[in-house]
Amino acid sequence: MNATACPICSGPLTPPRTGRPPRYCSKQCRQSAHRARERARQADTEAASQRARLTRDIARLAELGAELAAAWAPLGAADPGPGHGDPITGWEAAIADMARRMSNLAASITRTAGDHQRTAAAYRADTRLAQ
Ligand SMILES: [Zn+2]
Repeated sequence: MNATACPICSGPLTPPRTGRPPRYCSKQCRQSAHRARERARQADTEAASQRARLTRDIARLAELGAELAAAWAPLGAADPGPGHGDPITGWEAAIADMARRMSNLAASITRTAGDHQRTAAAYRADTRLAQ
């Protein structure tokens, strides 16, 4: 970082005759940096909460997968194969319902991952701005 340029607008910094050199060229740029730091703090909190949601949702998806496998296992094991008349039925709605819940959860995980990517990018941009 060039210490003679304002980190917000890249404008020149005018060194005072005495005292500490300024970090920003103007009150507006100092306020912009302050707002960027606040946004970065909010993005940091939001990203952490998105990762916590992913931890919960991914654990739940694994549970649902195990429940689906457990529900299907006896049906699959009892399947006599072709040539034994009418197929066994009555299980379809329950299996489909479990698969639908997994599908909804997977869609939510997909959205949260995308949200996290955007939140992390905003954090990085605001952190760069506010340094
Ligand atoms: Zn400036």
